[in-house]
Amino acid sequence: MRLFARGRHVCAWLISGPHRGKQACPEVRVSGRSLSLLQSNTPNPACQAITILNNRTSNDTECQRCGACCLKGGPGLHEADASLFHGPEALELSFVVTFRAGEPVHDQVRGRIAPLEREMLKLRPLPGATACAHYNHKARACALYQRRPLECRTLSCRDTSALAEMYDKARLRRSDLLPQGHPVLAVMAEHEALVPVARIAGLAAAFLAGGPQAKKAEEELTRMALCDQAFRQKLTQLANIGPEYHDFFFGRDASALFAAAGLSLRPDARLGFRVQPDPLCTAPLWRT
Ligand code: SF4
Repeated sequence: MRLFARGRHVCAWLISGPHRGKQACPEVRVSGRSLSLLQSNTPNPACQAITILNNRTSNDTECQRCGACCLKGGPGLHEADASLFHGPEALELSFVVTFRAGEPVHDQVRGRIAPLEREMLKLRPLPGATACAHYNHKARACALYQRRPLECRTLSCRDTSALAEMYDKARLRRSDLLPQGHPVLAVMAEHEALVPVARIAGLAAAFLAGGPQAKKAEEELTRMALCDQAFRQKLTQLANIGPEYHDFFFGRDASALFAAAGLSLRPDARLGFRVQPDPLCTAPLWRT
Protein backbone atom coordinates (compact mmCIF):
# COMPACT_ATOMS: atom_id res chain seq x y z
CA MET A 1 0.00 0.00 0.00
CA ARG A 2 1.35 3.41 -0.93
CA LEU A 3 0.49 4.54 2.54
CA PHE A 4 3.81 3.14 3.77
CA ALA A 5 5.96 5.65 1.97
CA ARG A 6 3.53 8.42 2.73
CA GLY A 7 3.37 7.37 6.35
CA ARG A 8 7.12 7.74 6.75
CA HIS A 9 6.88 11.16 5.15
CA VAL A 10 4.02 12.16 7.44
CA CYS A 11 6.01 11.09 10.48
CA ALA A 12 9.08 13.03 9.44
CA TRP A 13 7.00 16.11 8.70
CA LEU A 14 5.15 16.03 11.98
CA ILE A 15 8.28 15.75 14.07
CA SER A 16 10.60 18.02 12.20
CA GLY A 17 8.52 20.08 9.74
CA PRO A 18 10.33 23.18 8.54
CA HIS A 19 7.85 25.56 10.17
CA ARG A 20 7.50 23.76 13.48
CA GLY A 21 7.25 26.16 16.38
CA LYS A 22 7.91 29.20 14.23
CA GLN A 23 4.63 30.99 14.74
CA ALA A 24 2.25 30.94 17.68
CA CYS A 25 -0.95 31.39 15.67
CA PRO A 26 -0.66 29.11 12.66
CA GLU A 27 -0.11 25.84 14.48
CA VAL A 28 -2.32 22.91 15.19
CA ARG A 29 -1.58 20.26 17.80
CA VAL A 30 -1.22 16.52 17.35
CA SER A 31 0.12 14.60 20.34
CA GLY A 32 1.74 17.72 21.72
CA ARG A 33 3.58 18.25 18.44
CA SER A 34 2.86 21.20 16.24
CA LEU A 35 1.94 21.25 12.59
CA SER A 36 2.61 24.50 10.78
CA LEU A 37 -0.67 25.74 9.34
CA LEU A 38 0.54 28.63 7.24
CA GLN A 39 3.86 29.33 5.65
CA SER A 40 3.81 33.09 5.91
CA ASN A 41 3.25 35.74 8.57
CA THR A 42 -0.06 36.75 7.01
CA PRO A 43 -2.66 37.16 9.80
CA ASN A 44 -5.12 34.28 9.76
CA PRO A 45 -8.62 35.61 8.93
CA ALA A 46 -10.14 32.98 11.22
CA CYS A 47 -8.09 34.37 14.14
CA GLN A 48 -9.22 37.89 13.30
CA ALA A 49 -12.84 36.75 13.21
CA ILE A 50 -12.65 35.04 16.58
CA THR A 51 -10.96 38.09 18.08
CA ILE A 52 -13.90 40.19 16.98
CA LEU A 53 -16.28 37.68 18.54
CA ASN A 54 -14.27 37.60 21.76
CA ASN A 55 -14.49 41.35 22.05
CA ARG A 56 -18.20 41.43 21.34
CA THR A 57 -20.06 41.61 24.63
CA SER A 58 -22.99 43.95 24.16
CA ASN A 59 -24.72 41.69 21.61
CA ASP A 60 -23.78 38.44 23.31
CA THR A 61 -26.59 36.19 24.33
CA GLU A 62 -26.88 35.94 28.09
CA CYS A 63 -26.38 32.25 28.87
CA GLN A 64 -28.15 30.94 31.98
CA ARG A 65 -25.69 28.01 32.14
CA CYS A 66 -28.40 25.38 32.39
CA GLY A 67 -26.18 23.04 30.37
CA ALA A 68 -29.05 21.70 28.25
CA CYS A 69 -27.31 22.38 24.94
CA CYS A 70 -23.93 21.03 26.12
CA LEU A 71 -25.52 17.79 27.33
CA LYS A 72 -26.87 17.11 23.83
CA GLY A 73 -23.35 17.07 22.34
CA GLY A 74 -20.53 19.25 21.10
CA PRO A 75 -21.04 21.97 18.51
CA GLY A 76 -20.35 21.82 14.80
CA LEU A 77 -17.26 23.87 13.97
CA HIS A 78 -17.06 26.82 11.61
CA GLU A 79 -14.20 28.65 9.94
CA ALA A 80 -14.23 31.21 12.77
CA ASP A 81 -13.37 28.36 15.17
CA ALA A 82 -10.05 27.57 13.49
CA SER A 83 -8.20 29.73 15.99
CA LEU A 84 -9.17 27.28 18.77
CA PHE A 85 -6.53 24.98 17.33
CA HIS A 86 -3.67 27.49 17.29
CA GLY A 87 -1.41 28.97 19.90
CA PRO A 88 -0.33 27.98 23.38
CA GLU A 89 -3.81 26.83 24.51
CA ALA A 90 -4.57 25.06 21.24
CA LEU A 91 -7.08 22.25 21.38
CA GLU A 92 -5.77 18.86 20.31
CA LEU A 93 -7.27 17.44 17.13
CA SER A 94 -8.25 14.41 19.23
CA PHE A 95 -11.19 16.54 20.47
CA VAL A 96 -12.60 16.66 16.94
CA VAL A 97 -14.64 14.10 15.04
CA THR A 98 -15.18 14.35 11.29
CA PHE A 99 -18.52 13.58 9.67
CA ARG A 100 -17.82 12.92 6.01
CA ALA A 101 -19.94 14.11 3.10
CA GLY A 102 -22.82 11.67 2.60
CA GLU A 103 -23.09 10.63 6.26
CA PRO A 104 -26.53 10.93 7.83
CA VAL A 105 -26.54 13.43 10.68
CA HIS A 106 -29.21 14.98 12.80
CA ASP A 107 -29.89 18.46 11.48
CA GLN A 108 -30.56 20.32 14.71
CA VAL A 109 -32.20 23.27 12.99
CA ARG A 110 -34.56 21.34 10.72
CA GLY A 111 -35.07 18.56 13.27
CA ARG A 112 -34.49 15.72 10.83
CA ILE A 113 -31.80 13.26 9.81
CA ALA A 114 -30.24 14.04 6.44
CA PRO A 115 -27.03 13.16 4.58
CA LEU A 116 -24.36 15.83 4.71
CA GLU A 117 -23.68 17.67 1.47
CA ARG A 118 -20.12 18.38 2.57
CA GLU A 119 -18.03 17.26 5.49
CA MET A 120 -18.32 18.85 8.90
CA LEU A 121 -16.27 18.75 12.09
CA LYS A 122 -17.67 18.59 15.61
CA LEU A 123 -16.25 18.74 19.10
CA ARG A 124 -16.61 15.18 20.30
CA PRO A 125 -18.22 13.88 23.48
CA LEU A 126 -16.31 11.78 25.99
CA PRO A 127 -16.30 8.07 25.11
CA GLY A 128 -19.66 6.47 25.83
CA ALA A 129 -21.32 9.81 26.60
CA THR A 130 -23.32 12.33 24.62
CA ALA A 131 -22.37 15.54 26.48
CA CYS A 132 -19.66 17.75 25.01
CA ALA A 133 -16.25 16.74 26.35
CA HIS A 134 -15.66 20.30 27.53
CA TYR A 135 -18.73 20.42 29.75
CA ASN A 136 -17.98 20.22 33.46
CA HIS A 137 -21.02 18.49 34.96
CA LYS A 138 -20.16 19.32 38.55
CA ALA A 139 -19.62 23.03 37.97
CA ARG A 140 -22.22 23.14 35.18
CA ALA A 141 -19.73 25.15 33.19
CA CYS A 142 -17.88 25.13 29.89
CA ALA A 143 -14.11 24.69 30.12
CA LEU A 144 -13.79 26.79 26.97
CA TYR A 145 -16.35 29.41 27.89
CA GLN A 146 -14.31 32.53 27.08
CA ARG A 147 -13.37 31.12 23.67
CA ARG A 148 -16.24 28.72 23.07
CA PRO A 149 -17.07 27.85 19.46
CA LEU A 150 -19.23 30.05 17.29
CA GLU A 151 -22.35 27.86 17.51
CA CYS A 152 -22.19 27.95 21.32
CA ARG A 153 -21.84 31.73 21.25
CA THR A 154 -24.69 32.10 18.80
CA LEU A 155 -27.26 29.80 20.35
CA SER A 156 -29.96 31.46 22.39
CA CYS A 157 -32.52 29.15 23.96
CA ARG A 158 -35.10 31.89 23.65
CA ASP A 159 -34.55 32.57 19.96
CA THR A 160 -32.71 30.07 17.76
CA SER A 161 -33.02 32.12 14.56
CA ALA A 162 -29.42 33.33 14.74
CA LEU A 163 -28.17 29.74 15.01
CA ALA A 164 -30.44 28.64 12.16
CA GLU A 165 -29.00 31.40 9.99
CA MET A 166 -25.36 30.33 10.41
CA TYR A 167 -25.80 26.60 11.17
CA ASP A 168 -24.72 25.10 7.83
CA LYS A 169 -22.59 27.99 6.56
CA ALA A 170 -18.78 28.30 6.47
CA ARG A 171 -18.25 24.97 8.14
CA LEU A 172 -14.70 24.02 9.03
CA ARG A 173 -13.09 21.16 7.10
CA ARG A 174 -10.15 18.87 7.94
CA SER A 175 -8.01 20.56 5.32
CA ASP A 176 -8.54 23.93 7.08
CA LEU A 177 -6.65 22.58 10.09
CA LEU A 178 -3.74 20.97 8.27
CA PRO A 179 -0.82 22.58 6.47
CA GLN A 180 -1.46 23.19 2.78
CA GLY A 181 0.01 20.38 0.67
CA HIS A 182 0.68 18.17 3.70
CA PRO A 183 1.16 14.51 2.66
CA VAL A 184 -1.52 13.33 5.10
CA LEU A 185 -4.08 15.10 2.88
CA ALA A 186 -3.26 12.66 0.07
CA VAL A 187 -3.67 9.74 2.49
CA MET A 188 -7.08 11.09 3.53
CA ALA A 189 -8.10 11.42 -0.13
CA GLU A 190 -7.04 7.82 -0.75
CA HIS A 191 -9.10 6.69 2.24
CA GLU A 192 -12.07 8.66 0.91
CA ALA A 193 -11.80 6.88 -2.46
CA LEU A 194 -11.41 3.38 -1.00
CA VAL A 195 -13.99 3.76 1.79
CA PRO A 196 -16.68 5.86 0.08
CA VAL A 197 -19.38 6.83 2.56
CA ALA A 198 -21.94 7.40 -0.19
CA ARG A 199 -21.98 3.68 -1.10
CA ILE A 200 -22.67 2.30 2.37
CA ALA A 201 -26.45 2.79 2.57
CA GLY A 202 -27.05 1.23 -0.88
CA LEU A 203 -24.78 -1.75 -0.18
CA ALA A 204 -26.40 -2.26 3.23
CA ALA A 205 -29.87 -2.24 1.66
CA ALA A 206 -28.80 -4.80 -0.98
CA PHE A 207 -27.25 -7.02 1.69
CA LEU A 208 -30.26 -6.83 4.01
CA ALA A 209 -32.70 -7.49 1.15
CA GLY A 210 -30.95 -10.84 0.60
CA GLY A 211 -31.49 -10.87 -3.17
CA PRO A 212 -29.02 -11.78 -5.92
CA GLN A 213 -26.83 -8.75 -5.14
CA ALA A 214 -26.50 -9.59 -1.45
CA LYS A 215 -23.26 -11.59 -1.72
CA LYS A 216 -21.54 -8.93 -3.79
CA ALA A 217 -22.70 -6.22 -1.39
CA GLU A 218 -21.39 -8.21 1.57
CA GLU A 219 -17.98 -8.60 -0.09
CA GLU A 220 -17.78 -4.90 -0.87
CA LEU A 221 -18.76 -3.92 2.67
CA THR A 222 -16.18 -6.32 4.11
CA ARG A 223 -13.50 -4.88 1.85
CA MET A 224 -14.38 -1.36 2.97
CA ALA A 225 -14.24 -2.34 6.66
CA LEU A 226 -10.83 -3.99 6.21
CA CYS A 227 -9.53 -1.04 4.24
CA ASP A 228 -10.72 1.46 6.87
CA GLN A 229 -9.04 -0.58 9.60
CA ALA A 230 -5.77 -0.77 7.60
CA PHE A 231 -5.61 3.01 7.16
CA ARG A 232 -6.04 3.55 10.89
CA GLN A 233 -3.46 0.96 11.83
CA LYS A 234 -0.90 2.37 9.37
CA LEU A 235 -1.41 5.91 10.65
CA THR A 236 -0.43 4.70 14.11
CA GLN A 237 2.38 2.38 13.03
CA LEU A 238 4.05 4.64 10.51
CA ALA A 239 3.22 8.16 11.63
CA ASN A 240 2.84 7.51 15.37
CA ILE A 241 -0.60 9.14 15.36
CA GLY A 242 -2.70 7.35 17.97
CA PRO A 243 -6.27 6.05 17.68
CA GLU A 244 -7.64 9.09 19.51
CA TYR A 245 -6.87 11.14 16.35
CA HIS A 246 -8.23 8.70 13.78
CA ASP A 247 -11.80 10.01 13.84
CA PHE A 248 -10.44 13.42 12.87
CA PHE A 249 -8.26 12.19 9.99
CA PHE A 250 -10.60 9.49 8.61
CA GLY A 251 -13.99 10.28 10.13
CA ARG A 252 -16.04 7.78 12.09
CA ASP A 253 -14.91 4.19 11.63
CA ALA A 254 -16.64 1.50 9.58
CA SER A 255 -18.43 -0.04 12.55
CA ALA A 256 -20.06 3.32 13.43
CA LEU A 257 -21.02 4.00 9.80
CA PHE A 258 -22.36 0.48 9.29
CA ALA A 259 -24.38 0.68 12.53
CA ALA A 260 -26.24 3.68 11.13
CA ALA A 261 -27.20 1.52 8.16
CA GLY A 262 -28.46 -1.34 10.37
CA LEU A 263 -25.34 -3.53 10.18
CA SER A 264 -22.79 -4.75 12.66
CA LEU A 265 -19.29 -6.12 12.19
CA ARG A 266 -17.89 -9.08 14.04
CA PRO A 267 -14.32 -10.35 13.89
CA ASP A 268 -13.81 -13.36 11.63
CA ALA A 269 -10.65 -15.49 11.61
CA ARG A 270 -10.80 -16.10 7.85
CA LEU A 271 -12.20 -12.85 6.44
CA GLY A 272 -11.07 -10.39 9.10
CA PHE A 273 -14.63 -9.14 9.52
CA ARG A 274 -18.05 -10.55 8.92
CA VAL A 275 -20.90 -8.20 8.09
CA GLN A 276 -24.25 -9.07 9.63
CA PRO A 277 -27.61 -7.43 10.29
CA ASP A 278 -27.48 -5.57 13.60
CA PRO A 279 -29.75 -7.63 15.88
CA LEU A 280 -30.46 -4.57 18.03
CA CYS A 281 -31.46 -2.33 15.14
CA THR A 282 -35.13 -2.23 14.25
CA ALA A 283 -35.08 0.83 12.01
CA PRO A 284 -31.79 1.86 10.37
CA LEU A 285 -31.01 5.55 10.63
CA TRP A 286 -29.54 5.50 7.16
CA ARG A 287 -31.48 4.26 4.15
CA THR A 288 -31.26 4.76 0.42
S1 SF4 B 1 -17.88 23.99 23.90
FE1 SF4 B 1 -18.65 24.62 25.91
S2 SF4 B 1 -20.56 25.75 25.50
FE2 SF4 B 1 -20.04 24.56 23.65
S3 SF4 B 1 -21.16 22.60 23.87
FE3 SF4 B 1 -19.08 22.29 24.70
S4 SF4 B 1 -19.30 22.70 26.92
FE4 SF4 B 1 -21.09 23.60 25.90
